[in-house]
Amino acid sequence: MPITVQVRTMAARLARVRWGTAPAATQRGPLVSCRRWAGASSDTVYDVVVSGGGLVGTAMACALGYDIHFCDKKILLLEAGPKKVLGKLPETYSNRVSSISPGSATLLSSFGAWDHICNMRYRAFRRMQVWDACSEALIMFDKDNLDDMGCIVENNVIMHALTKQLEAVSDRVTVLYKSKAVSYTWPYPFSMADSSPWVHITLGDGSILQTKLLIGADGHNSGVRQAAGIQNVSWNYDQSAVVATLHLSEATENNVAWQRFLPSGPIALLPLSDTLSSLVWSTSHEHAAELVSMDEEKFVDAVNSAFWSDANHTDFIDSAGSMLQYAVAFLKPTKISARQLPPSVARVDARSRILFPLGLGHAAEYVRPRLALIGDAAHRVHPLAGQGANMGFGDISSLLHHLRTAAFNGKDLGSMSHLTAYETDRQRHNTALLAATDLLKRLYSTSATPLVLLRTWGLQATNAVSPLKVREFSQISKSLAH
Ligand SMILES: Cc1cc2nc3c(=O)[nH]c(=O)nc-3n(C[C@H](O)[C@H](O)[C@H](O)COP(=O)(O)OP(=O)(O)OC[C@H]3O[C@@H](n4cnc5c(N)ncnc54)[C@H](O)[C@@H]3O)c2cc1C
Repeated sequence: MPITVQVRTMAARLARVRWGTAPAATQRGPLVSCRRWAGASSDTVYDVVVSGGGLVGTAMACALGYDIHFCDKKILLLEAGPKKVLGKLPETYSNRVSSISPGSATLLSSFGAWDHICNMRYRAFRRMQVWDACSEALIMFDKDNLDDMGCIVENNVIMHALTKQLEAVSDRVTVLYKSKAVSYTWPYPFSMADSSPWVHITLGDGSILQTKLLIGADGHNSGVRQAAGIQNVSWNYDQSAVVATLHLSEATENNVAWQRFLPSGPIALLPLSDTLSSLVWSTSHEHAAELVSMDEEKFVDAVNSAFWSDANHTDFIDSAGSMLQYAVAFLKPTKISARQLPPSVARVDARSRILFPLGLGHAAEYVRPRLALIGDAAHRVHPLAGQGANMGFGDISSLLHHLRTAAFNGKDLGSMSHLTAYETDRQRHNTALLAATDLLKRLYSTSATPLVLLRTWGLQATNAVSPLKVREFSQISKSLAH
């Protein structure tokens, strides 16, 4: 079965997809003077409560707080953890970073958070090299094909920027930190349990809040999703990701994102500065545990060898790959992007190594009356494509667009008519991305000769044929833009 058909089939299995029309791009409305709402109260019926103040929930609250269409709405953000602001930018880089797509940067700019990030620190990358450890096959996207592929930003820098922006609209968005939602009650006809028309949220201290629209942004173990009884298709991968901050052997331009597919999982090196890069190495749980506990010198050797060693090559695959390379060069004597060597690593930041078990998850429904799920609460993806947070930011752009239309037309924000449009829009996009990522993970988690040959030829052909590569890239950037 062709790969595109497999992706579609899996996408359809993952969700109830309505293949409708895509929404128009979201735009930022100007700020005007608005009614002021401060402090949380159980008597107040909030127009919107966002449950979960991670990257996605906090960005959602910002997007609502800065949009003119919601200036007379009562908005509340609930976060179980403490407020996350940086007193001063730490000299040491954080080991938790995200590759932020141009589309996500546009969303963050629309409410001023991107300016904060630019004033703190980030690293743009202009090239991306992805290659196979079992052959010479590679694909390189470089500046000839594109301008800016994305930026690597520390998660705590993004969080700081979002929190600062929220503080600036504290008269419009109430934020409750260290406030865990412990239960939710849904309105009829969704549940017969309560005759009130609103969603009721009970907090850990016993207080109860009411809202016309609950946005669940509480991560991949979402309590909102579970309380609503929404089915979640999920499985754990046989892999954990090890992250760490690495010091390069010498200063370089360092504007390339490197990713090599090893039979045990992908390893990626993402630029942070001229001399630092961030590592995301997905591998078996046992190997990951070993990597975080081994001594630093041995760890650095393991990383260098993972990027440089040809131990997984076989003569047969190398010859078959070369044959295709010659044939392409004969038929189309143009310059093919050559393999570049990644920088070598000299040392690892002390205590920067941690691991995350990986899994896939997808909510069969993103919406119910008075409920919408966004971010990891709706979908969890393998980090090999660096897409989890970007998909969440895409959810925000889409949900904001549909809520804005509802608010403009004086409609109930919790009504299914526009929530369904959000679900259709995002499930169509997210399921395709989830399925493609899962397929890539499976295709590359093997050194079986037929599959290695298949992917070697596929990658070489794509890299050799410019229009194919441009199309491939424009598909990636289209998906990154949403
Ligand atoms: C190793 C690794 C690398 C990654 N790299 C990238 C990358 O390069 N690019 C990218 O786009 N994505 C990447 N991701 C994915 C990305 O980190 C996640 O998709 C993203 O952080 C999800 O954000 P979220 O806000 O939806 O969920 P979370 O970050 O899980 O936040 C949920 C929040 O809800 C709060 N909460 C939970 N329950 C309650 C409750 N009952 N009441 C109140 N609050 C509650 C929690 O305290 C938390 O703050 C990576 C992931 C991993 C593991």
